[in-house]
Amino acid sequence: MNESNVMQKPIRIRISILFLFSLILLGCNLQEKPNHKKPVIDNTQSPFTKLRSIPMQDTKLTEGFWAKRFDLAANKMLPTLENTMLGEGTANLNRIKEAAGIIKEHQHGSPWGDGDNYKWIESMAHVYNMNKDPELDKKMDYWIEIIGKAMDPDGYISTNIGHDKSQRFQKVNAHELYNMGHLLTAACIHYRSTGKENFMVIAKKNADFLYNNQWKTEPVHMARFPWNPSVFMGMAEMYRTTRNPKYLELLQIMIDNRGSRPNPERDHSMGGTDQTQDRVPLREETMAVGHAVTGNYYYCGAADLYAETGDKALLDALERIWNDIHTRKIDIVCGVAMGGQGHEISPRGDEVHESFANEPYIQPNGYNETCANIGTGMFNYRLFMLTGESKYADWTERMMYNTLISGVDLQGEHWFYCNPLSWDGTEGEKIKQTNGRDKNRLVPAHHSGQRWEFMNCYCCPPSVTRTTAQIHNWFYNVSDDGALWINFYGGNKLSTTLADGSDIKLTQITDYPRDGQVKIKIERTENESFPIHFRIPGWSENPVVSVNGEKVSKKQNPGSYLTIEREWKVGDEVNLDFPMPIRLVEARPDVKNFNNKVAVMRGPFVYCLELPKQENGEEIYNDGIFIPENVKLTAEYLEDFLGGVTVLKGKVLNQKEKETFVNNNPQLITEQSSVNWEENELYRPLKPKEGSNSVEGSVEIELIPYYAWANRGLGYMDVWIPLAR
Ligand SMILES: [Zn+2]
Repeated sequence: MNESNVMQKPIRIRISILFLFSLILLGCNLQEKPNHKKPVIDNTQSPFTKLRSIPMQDTKLTEGFWAKRFDLAANKMLPTLENTMLGEGTANLNRIKEAAGIIKEHQHGSPWGDGDNYKWIESMAHVYNMNKDPELDKKMDYWIEIIGKAMDPDGYISTNIGHDKSQRFQKVNAHELYNMGHLLTAACIHYRSTGKENFMVIAKKNADFLYNNQWKTEPVHMARFPWNPSVFMGMAEMYRTTRNPKYLELLQIMIDNRGSRPNPERDHSMGGTDQTQDRVPLREETMAVGHAVTGNYYYCGAADLYAETGDKALLDALERIWNDIHTRKIDIVCGVAMGGQGHEISPRGDEVHESFANEPYIQPNGYNETCANIGTGMFNYRLFMLTGESKYADWTERMMYNTLISGVDLQGEHWFYCNPLSWDGTEGEKIKQTNGRDKNRLVPAHHSGQRWEFMNCYCCPPSVTRTTAQIHNWFYNVSDDGALWINFYGGNKLSTTLADGSDIKLTQITDYPRDGQVKIKIERTENESFPIHFRIPGWSENPVVSVNGEKVSKKQNPGSYLTIEREWKVGDEVNLDFPMPIRLVEARPDVKNFNNKVAVMRGPFVYCLELPKQENGEEIYNDGIFIPENVKLTAEYLEDFLGGVTVLKGKVLNQKEKETFVNNNPQLITEQSSVNWEENELYRPLKPKEGSNSVEGSVEIELIPYYAWANRGLGYMDVWIPLAR
């Protein structure tokens, strides 16, 4: 040791002590915890679930459809959201800075903007989980620190309300618990993705505030405040992350409270009405009613509560509501928001909007808010895990391939709030932006014919992003009997642990849903014998499954899981082949709007006919387009069209040809049939008369998957196409 070192020793000791102190401080917050690796929906310890999720780290997308969508979310949607949210007007990140005292200028935003900002952070956490991009990590820490500063010392935060305590929980529709609910979820996902506790520290403070200062002291006053109840799912995950029983108790109180203060005034801005599903307690509810986003979030939260408590009355109610939606009130692309912005009346006499259908079988042109479509998928996936029933996975898949991804354009930069089933070539209504620096600039209304960069209500873009970035987490489940469940197909590698603690690694190699061939290779296994359940999609016909080249003789029913139990060995190869014939699908005759029309499907995709104006669409549209029941459509994959899609080509009839055809060939035409429909059947394949040859007209059409419409400028679009009848 030389002299100068000796001289500097006291300073070095001081620096070392400071450094150690900082490390201890950081350790409290930022050091990765060894046991943080948990699933997105962490039901790993839930006593009342049939299937369990697997940790976020265990499924890695490799190639194909969902790998591409994930890249779009990571590289385009995330920065697009950030760019918009840094401007004033709706979900406004700078409002958190204002609340933190970092900027002085007043920042405008929507009441629910905080929740959407947190969804953006949650999306980053999902992406970081896959790519470990240090820039994302830094960005999340940056905003988490500001959120911590914006929070009141007692744990309250909602920047639309601010720091004046007298303003808290005064208006039920101020979305305070939507905002805080998304904070709780984002913090849990951030912790599970990064292992850092800095966001969880803030989330715990907030959840403790809700427990101690609000619900324990004012449960009656608070009954109507979970207006748009993201807080239910958020509180469930808080319990699951911390195992602190008071968060579960709080979730129970919140669910039990809902519907306990029905509103005699029927003013939905006061809560206690069907608009927010709080006129009737959930256990007594018989139907899906009211706002379709708040409804789905409520049902998801109640499903999470059931997984922890096993309260049968909750599950019974959820199954009644599910039946009401899926046998009477859902459209073919998994849209459920039928009521638009207008004021409609619920069956119990309350004013509702953006609601589930107020009568069975009423399907207008598809309002279909993107958040409501995604919420339906979230509800279905939860019921699937609770029960293991395939019908729930089928509807989850319908959402994934249709109205999740129709919510964003192929560049990942423009969005849809509504997802109509038909469009008339116009731009759609424009409205004045209501706040922010660009106040009064014209922006698209909710119902638009073109995806937009910005509009007044920005809830859907971060919903699409966070769901796209996490969807691979839904591909697999495990169950306590030692089984692995394979739900959804797409190129990926799985490395997880079965219930008995043994490792399983496998690879899925597939172009699904371009075609229905899936190869699953076992890469590692320790067990002597265990079951794997393979989902056979409800839409499939004559699926073929083989193991190591040998066909499985067991009958494979569409809409079920095929169980193969054997001594799995490294190198075993399962081939699933789901042929994808083109299907014409008809709706139950009670759905009057779609009488004598068909939708066209192939695999999980619903197709649409889009006629862009710039491609002579108006003329073709005006001449009429009619599909003969026995039309010949051929599938062709086009690599360079709309990001790579399989189109369906055929020649159909115009108005004149249709009239001639109908007059000359009555024997080839079936009538809209109101008989032989199963009680709960809403859609079914159309069966043309046997023996009739295909009929061709002069109109060449090219159907595209529904999600890809509105990427070619303005045009005409129809999911339901008139039959030549
Ligand atoms: Zn939305």
